[in-house]
Amino acid sequence: MIQLYIPLGFLGVLYREIKQSLTDLDKMFVLLEKEREIADAPDAQPLALDGPPAVKFESVRFAYEPAREILHGVSFEIPPGKTVAVVGPSGSGKSTLARLLYRFYDVGNQQGTGPHGAGRILINGQDIRDVTQSSVRQAIGIVPQDTVLFNDTIEYNILYGKPDAGHEAAVAAARAAHIHSFIEKLPLGYRTMVGERGLKLSGGEKQRVAIARTLLKNPPIVIFDEATSALDSANERAIQAELKSAARNKTTLVIAHRLSTVVDAHEILVLVNGEIVERGRHAQLVSSGGIYAGMWALQQSGAD
Ligand code: ADP
Ligand code: MG
Repeated sequence: MIQLYIPLGFLGVLYREIKQSLTDLDKMFVLLEKEREIADAPDAQPLALDGPPAVKFESVRFAYEPAREILHGVSFEIPPGKTVAVVGPSGSGKSTLARLLYRFYDVGNQQGTGPHGAGRILINGQDIRDVTQSSVRQAIGIVPQDTVLFNDTIEYNILYGKPDAGHEAAVAAARAAHIHSFIEKLPLGYRTMVGERGLKLSGGEKQRVAIARTLLKNPPIVIFDEATSALDSANERAIQAELKSAARNKTTLVIAHRLSTVVDAHEILVLVNGEIVERGRHAQLVSSGGIYAGMWALQQSGAD
């Protein structure tokens, strides 16, 4: 599931209710709003932006459940318009970084139950907990690991985030994400219903819809969480160029499983068990002969 990382404790009875409409995200958010730990401060202002922003994680600690801390003090900075890449074994906390930046959770919610942590996440010097959640999300495009589509038309799904952009814009974005010719061949084209109650798309197709959505939204900050992991390598190569152009001059957090996508990053972070154990540029990390160098050697040899 994307975008809905619900600590299991919340669910219980709610779970059965939600399950009926698992991908009906709107409904789900309404339900969860009551339970969610994220609330805007009464005096929260919209995030102030002026060109590509700087993103900063300051000693971020985070636990979904109090007894099990996932991030143990992570600090890094993405300068305006630059790309920082995160690599590391599965379960190390990479997607958690993405979720925190997108404010699915707030750090430092210390009621002793549910998600908690410490540290700060800043966008242009503004603590993202102090500004409205909607303005943070407006500024960020995210291609999550698993995309859940709305039960609506494929065009609605592409336009989500910028509903007034219109059909032509949806087509242009779909072309760039290499999903246009697929859509054209559907019986109802862009008006085909997708989601759990409509046409079921493959993981790779859903991922391309999410990529189209992000290209169209054209936000100043983008997060790619293994954004091409569900694609075969031919498709991945084709889309890689589009992702690169989508990230140009944007402040970008890339979580990558294929290292070829992070070679040009301003900084690469190797995250292991919630801690950054290596950091630097690609050439530096390769020559230092550590974990990253090992991962690189393995991928170069064709094992993936
Ligand atoms: P990665 O993206 O590096 O594979 P994640 O950030 O998704 O890792 O997960 C890090 C750890 O947090 C994992 O051990 C995972 O089981 C745990 N985790 C993820 N989401 C939740 C959640 N909603 N509730 C509790 N634990 C979670
Ligand atoms: Mg992940």
